[in-house]
Amino acid sequence: MANILKVVKGTKDILPQDMPMWHFLEDTANRIFSKYGYKEIRTPIFEVTELFARGVGDTTDIVNKEMYTFEKSDRSLTLRPENTAGVVRSFIENGMSRLSSPVKLWYKGPMFRYERPQAGRQRQFHQVGIEMFGIKEPTADAEAILLAVNYLKSLGLNDLEVEINSLGCPKCREEYKKKIKEILKPEFNNLCEDCQNRYEKNPLRLLDCKVESCQKIFEKPEIKAVIQSDFICEECAEHYSKLKTYLKELNVKFTENKLLVRGLDYYNRTVFEIKSNNLGSQNAVCGGGRYDSLVRNLGGEDTPAVGWAMGMERLISLIEPIEPEKFDAYIVSNSTTDAIKLAQELREQGLCVEFDLQNKKFTKQLEKASKVARYAFILGEDEIANNMVSVKNLSTSIQKTIDRNNLRSEFKNV
Ligand code: ATP
Ligand code: MG
Repeated sequence: MANILKVVKGTKDILPQDMPMWHFLEDTANRIFSKYGYKEIRTPIFEVTELFARGVGDTTDIVNKEMYTFEKSDRSLTLRPENTAGVVRSFIENGMSRLSSPVKLWYKGPMFRYERPQAGRQRQFHQVGIEMFGIKEPTADAEAILLAVNYLKSLGLNDLEVEINSLGCPKCREEYKKKIKEILKPEFNNLCEDCQNRYEKNPLRLLDCKVESCQKIFEKPEIKAVIQSDFICEECAEHYSKLKTYLKELNVKFTENKLLVRGLDYYNRTVFEIKSNNLGSQNAVCGGGRYDSLVRNLGGEDTPAVGWAMGMERLISLIEPIEPEKFDAYIVSNSTTDAIKLAQELREQGLCVEFDLQNKKFTKQLEKASKVARYAFILGEDEIANNMVSVKNLSTSIQKTIDRNNLRSEFKNV
């Protein structure tokens, strides 16, 4: 026997029995996001590598360690590790800045990161997300967070925690970065290897390091005091304080977390995450924030923007399982020809129908019907002779023989 090939480590099949949950997530996204004025966009799964180096940032783990990059015709291409860079590229390329603000886009689809696979972390995973372009006011940040919370509520997820923080602007952040570096300098040798590497290039990233020994260091009183200090400038502070006021007005509960800095380089001012207590250590379902300089960095006009992404596998693990739909009708008959004709007729009328393709015994067909369908459509010899069909409601066992000429109207009453 030939050896069996397996799915690649860190990837998963999404099987037919999982589909009802995926469709629920996707249909709910479509329905809820439309209400807020978002239009769906689908960008390619691979882009030129430079887009992510410039867009996600070449000091990030994603770009440095986690990208699936390959060469074709001397071009370096990369499977998208996230979709904001791709959406921004498309926004610029398609002249969307000429549209009236805000431009609101949403997406769903697979993303690829070469990470260590574990519960809640895959190498191919799926995100659903939104991007809003053109609004610098904190109303946009508030509405984006509200939409995330409402989407989660519509999925039946209520007990989630919203954490927010402000990273300030590149100007006020500079001073803060310096102070963080200074206070952590004596601890340099005690930091984890990743943090030591980030120390020079991206010191703020240290703060959301998940390694326990690093977190302990940030808890030391003199270090904590610097981390918790207010560093943002007056304008950034006003933006942040208005955001908090809006969220309170909207009854969106949140906590402030100074350690929340997010993994991507492009954020400024608002960053936020939504976490669940039921997910173990990979507990973030949603991450996002404001990225006012990304459009310009990728060659477009200065355009403020805010967005977020949610991990769909993590959402699936939080929602109640959904049973696959049963067939409306299963046809039970000794005449395959009559069965196939009736099946076709009913399908044309919009029903989901199955019948026995192998001419099995009548009783076997009935058994199967009761497992997979809501109604059995029985075509015995008498029924066929009289152009009738016996319809049995398989949950109540009530059976009625109806005229095939009035099938649709009479079926409703069974
Ligand atoms: P994390 O802290 O979990 O690594 P992140 O900061 O890398 O998340 P983002 O890049 O902002 O996450 O992506 C948004 C969401 O996508 C995350 O909150 C998470 O739900 C999901 N996600 C990110 N990476 C993975 C992965 N490797 N496997 C599954 N889901 C993921
Ligand atoms: Mg990550």
